[in-house]
This record gives sequence, C-alpha cells and structure tokens, in this order.
Amino acid sequence: MAGADNCRVCGYDWGEPPWGDSQLEPTYWICPCCGVEAGYEDCAPDGARAHRRAWLATGARWADPSTPHDGLEPEQRLRHVPPGYED
Ligand SMILES: [Zn+2]
Repeated sequence: MAGADNCRVCGYDWGEPPWGDSQLEPTYWICPCCGVEAGYEDCAPDGARAHRRAWLATGARWADPSTPHDGLEPEQRLRHVPPGYED
C-alpha cells in the first residue's frame, strides 16, 4: 500500500513515516534506495518528481549498499509513491 511510510520519490517502504505521523515533521532520513533526503528535495510534488527523473535517468540504482535491498524492481516500487507525488 502506498502511504505515509513510503518514499515520495521512489516508493521505498521505510516502515515508519519519513515525514512523521502528521506528515509535517520531516525526519531528514536519507532514502537508501533513491538517496532523497526526506524534508529536502521531496517537500513539494514537483521537487519529488524532479529527483525521481534524475534518479531514473542515472539508472535507478540502490543508493545505500549498507541497507539490504527491498527486492523490488523500480517500476514495482514506484507504485507505492504516496498519492499526490506520482508522475
Ligand atoms: Zn526513495
């Protein structure tokens, strides 16, 4: 399910909301998948889309090798982008 726990750029499921329960308190976590900082590039839908385009254009690589891969293909993960932040 797409929702508050998912990255606004790539749809990665953090298991906790990167913008807090209120969706107004960014944690500044770095997404291990797309590398976005929650509370920076993803503040507005346009910013999230721009980061997504850049990430996809460079091969949609997993950003943090120290975090286990979630096993999803980029297009599968992108289905979990929260409503309002999709392309
Ligand atoms: Zn992400």
